[in-house]
Amino acid sequence: MQKPTFPAPAENARTALITGGGRGIGRACALQLARAGCRVAVLARSLDEVDEVASIIHEGGGKALSAVCDVTNEDSITAAVEACTRRLGPVDILVNNAGQAHSVPLLKMSVEDWQRMINVNLTGTFLVTRAVLPSMVERGFGRVINIASTAGLTGYRYTTHYCASKHGVVGLTRALALEVASKGVTVNAVCPGWVETEMLQDTVRNISKKTGRGEENARETLLADIPTHRFVKPEAVAAMVAYVASDDARDLTGTTLTIDGGQLAG
Ligand code: NDP
Repeated sequence: MQKPTFPAPAENARTALITGGGRGIGRACALQLARAGCRVAVLARSLDEVDEVASIIHEGGGKALSAVCDVTNEDSITAAVEACTRRLGPVDILVNNAGQAHSVPLLKMSVEDWQRMINVNLTGTFLVTRAVLPSMVERGFGRVINIASTAGLTGYRYTTHYCASKHGVVGLTRALALEVASKGVTVNAVCPGWVETEMLQDTVRNISKKTGRGEENARETLLADIPTHRFVKPEAVAAMVAYVASDDARDLTGTTLTIDGGQLAG
């Protein structure tokens, strides 16, 4: 297979930081933004995965940095943002993508289950945003793009903690957009339905284990709720993110963009 190529970032290129950039949607966003000419900082807890994404960009002619970062840990965030600022420049585009999913009925949910979803998906989004926002405001430009979910707009069974965290991300998005609208900083949420990533694969395995049905059958169960009858590709979410990050999207703020094969339309 031919290796991907990326443009060398121009002098005035934007710097993008992507949390959870090592695989799935975050990886696709890192590659897409590099393709759009950005310098890209790829962050996650697994060094091997972020290293691989940064190498693909480097070897293809772009500019990237990989760093270990746990979005629930303030020191880890400070160190990663400092490394990005030093080596690639201050963050212009933040993609808050790091996230985890889990499913359990509320009556069987432990406080630890609840806290993990809130800490990673919601508090992580708050902490990373707070770390990069001052420089965006100071420079009069910024794009904060939060990868929420259709679970931020509607409820799904057995995921009260996940839904609460993603509804929280949508609320944070709307409120912060108002705070910084006059500063050249936009804040938006992208809300995908089911996307073909490891997170989806974990869900399929989980359904299969709990119901005793095969994985193909579990996938069909999920597909039955999607009018287009297919899962969204990570690259399609990344293309949406690239538009939200672009200069053309300067008046798009405080909104939610859904990409779900029509799931919420019904
Ligand atoms: P994956 O599980 O494939 O990837 C998740 C990424 O987040 C990984 O890079 C992971 O890396 C990182 N991550 C997890 N926990 C942390 C943490 N504490 N600190 C830093 N990074 C972390 O998931 P997807 O690509 O599918 O999901 C990406 C985002 O999209 C999530 O926010 C998810 O909720 C959302 N989403 C996904 C949908 C889907 O169907 N797949 C649908 C709707 C929304 P590591 O473990 O190495 O830290």
